[in-house]
Amino acid sequence: MRAVFVYQCNSSGWTFRPTPLNLLQDLQRAFGLTYLFIAHNLSVVEYLSDRVAVMYLGKMAELAPADELYSNPLHPYTKALLSPIPDPSARKQRIMPQGDVPSPINPPSGCRFRTRCFIAIDRCATEVPEFRLMGEDHYAACHRAEESSKLMGSGSVLTGKSLPTPPPSPNGANLH
Ligand code: SF4
Repeated sequence: MRAVFVYQCNSSGWTFRPTPLNLLQDLQRAFGLTYLFIAHNLSVVEYLSDRVAVMYLGKMAELAPADELYSNPLHPYTKALLSPIPDPSARKQRIMPQGDVPSPINPPSGCRFRTRCFIAIDRCATEVPEFRLMGEDHYAACHRAEESSKLMGSGSVLTGKSLPTPPPSPNGANLH
């Protein structure tokens, strides 16, 4: 097995020409390569990947086979990342995490995503969610993974429902 590390940067501050995805795919087939492909655009990741890991502030939020992750995301951050995928249906809403990304050197207590999560509960501030097996080869680090689709909608977007009320902004050092 030959492994290749590929980083697909799409930061607007850089002059960068991404490697054409079909070229990467051709090379993968021709040489039997395994890619470790890192990108910010999940639609690009879907094109190339068999298995996808979603990370937030340096921690794994979700890991699953690509088909499973894109059809049944369980972590609220994954749902938010997938929601910008364009869809012509007017009944579907985009999920935008609230607020700014916290500092990775002073992350929030408990779940690192809790200050931006629409379905955070008190437990999320005090207890680090375990990275749990939720289905066949599907892992998620969320206290509410079992009910996240009921609360936020199944699949990648909400369908005509109102978003849950987001938690209040962090307001003190003891919250972090
Ligand atoms: S553990 Fe809590 S804050 Fe973290 S993603 Fe799940 S519901 Fe949201």
